[in-house]
Amino acid sequence: MDADFLVIGSGLAGLTCALHAARHGSVLVLSKDRLPESNTNYAQGGIASVWAADDSFEAHVEDTLIAGAGLCHRDLVELVVRDGPDRIRELIALGTHFSRRETRDDPEYDLGQEGGHSHRRILHASDATGREIMRALVAAVRTDANIRVLERHLAVDLLTDAALAPNAQTVSCWGAYVLDRDSGRVGTLSARATLLATGGAGKVYLYTSNPDIATGDGIAMAYRAGVPISNLEFIQFHPTCLYHPAAKSFLISEALRGEGAVLRRPDGTPFMAAYHTRAELAPRDIVARAIDNEMKVHGFDCVYLDISAKPRDFLLSRFPMIHERCMQYGIDLTREPIPVVPAAHYCCGGAMTTHDGATNIRRLYAAGEVAMTGLHGANRLASNSLLEALVLGHRSAVHAVELLRTDPARPPAFADWNPGGATDSDESVVVTQNWDEIRRLMWNYVGIVRSNRRLARALHRINALQDEIQQYYWDFTVTGDLIELRNLAVVAELIIISAIKRKESRGLHYTIDYPDLLPEPRDTIVTRGERFSPDAAFLASLNKRRREP
Ligand SMILES: Cc1cc2nc3c(=O)[nH]c(=O)nc-3n(C[C@H](O)[C@H](O)[C@H](O)COP(=O)(O)OP(=O)(O)OC[C@H]3O[C@@H](n4cnc5c(N)ncnc54)[C@H](O)[C@@H]3O)c2cc1C
Repeated sequence: MDADFLVIGSGLAGLTCALHAARHGSVLVLSKDRLPESNTNYAQGGIASVWAADDSFEAHVEDTLIAGAGLCHRDLVELVVRDGPDRIRELIALGTHFSRRETRDDPEYDLGQEGGHSHRRILHASDATGREIMRALVAAVRTDANIRVLERHLAVDLLTDAALAPNAQTVSCWGAYVLDRDSGRVGTLSARATLLATGGAGKVYLYTSNPDIATGDGIAMAYRAGVPISNLEFIQFHPTCLYHPAAKSFLISEALRGEGAVLRRPDGTPFMAAYHTRAELAPRDIVARAIDNEMKVHGFDCVYLDISAKPRDFLLSRFPMIHERCMQYGIDLTREPIPVVPAAHYCCGGAMTTHDGATNIRRLYAAGEVAMTGLHGANRLASNSLLEALVLGHRSAVHAVELLRTDPARPPAFADWNPGGATDSDESVVVTQNWDEIRRLMWNYVGIVRSNRRLARALHRINALQDEIQQYYWDFTVTGDLIELRNLAVVAELIIISAIKRKESRGLHYTIDYPDLLPEPRDTIVTRGERFSPDAAFLASLNKRRREP
């Protein structure tokens, strides 16, 4: 099977790229689950863009730079902020309905305000913005004759010509090996341009707000193909995810704290005032760190978010979806506190790209949460991620269209997927065991508060797990779960290495061994083939006798 454009991923970045590219050629879109399933689909708050008359591009740029703690790339930030309104108008033209003010007849959009933004600039669709955006995009994609969607198809690895022409100056990407989850067959999909739009990697942590698709496949595939991976130590933890055995990854919006919700210990004592003068309204990373500390010091399984003091009618109209979901688990937020834990939420780093989504591999692009463009720096400003997926999804398409117009080369012949001597595994428990172990070790050792000792333990464990997983991968027939486990292990290792490389606390990366900022901000970069071993200062620090908090 082949196409001009292969889009791996069907969230906001992927479908935006697909719709634009389809005007110029044939497009294949891969979705490893059913079509709307993506991080985009669960976005609650909204999408940030300069919309109000009293707002300005300069103000949005400044807010983004402040959040990014010195690591944002200013030129890219300016470009994304300026492109935003045009791209959002296109989303609206496709049929996305953002919430309007008070009355139905009011032509003005209701612009939300979120932490870190100096102006109201969050376009939203009630508290289910992602679902509304996906509804409109999926409808458009379904009716586009140039787009073919393959659901439940999972990209395994990228096809590059590195092995075909080992001495060539440039490596090109020509598509991917893809697993059809229903038949279990791996096929070759050739394309003249390929976009990685596979989203984030929240599933690398035990607790996450992300759905099951977020296993970092694109980051791992890009790394294996030779794309540098940058700033992966910056994982944003959302302070409040619903804690309930049956409720996987449901986020309790920060807007609840904005409306007066109080964080309490299991015995009802409020604790945030002891951590920050703004108590519950402290910045997101401080609140996440405080909850993590309460849980670790006192051994709590969770803490509680209490908004029951507010009038019931207000809560039902302001948080309809959150109320409904909590009720499904027998929790009535109008009467009782909600059990919550912090959870891995957003991955600021990823595959390094240019301002047009291009990677160092010709014909390979990356956009959305899988990419590191320089927009977020060391910390993401709320609601800037949907904006990035939208703007960079579009820019990648524009660049790829021009590349294909000027370069008519066709994909070379690639060998079919060779399963070698692999047999069906009768030990699937190995996959679940390793999956659980990675997620738990990342949570305990590479979580919200880090230290050299914990990182050293994590590196040691992940190296052992990598060996076991690699062996298993080559011995047994590939399945979706095994491919995801292999990718999860790669991403975990990359996060650990990136965290060890950063000798400071900046933005989302907080370590007790280097609590201060270094004077010069630098991106962390990890490349395939780099033989990583911790430096002497790191190793020496492990020998110091000290108790970790
Ligand atoms: C609960 C929640 C709330 C959020 N709220 C907001 C918000 O209010 N505002 C905001 O700006 N951001 C928010 N975010 C972050 C934002 O939703 C994401 O960063 C953004 O949607 C990422 O879009 P994307 O297109 O890059 O990836 P996604 O939307 O995650 O799409 C990834 C796609 O790739 C596919 N895929 C993955 N691996 C493979 C593979 N190997 N083969 C084939 N397909 C594959 C998946 O099936 C999926 O279709 C939120 C995130 C979550 C989880």
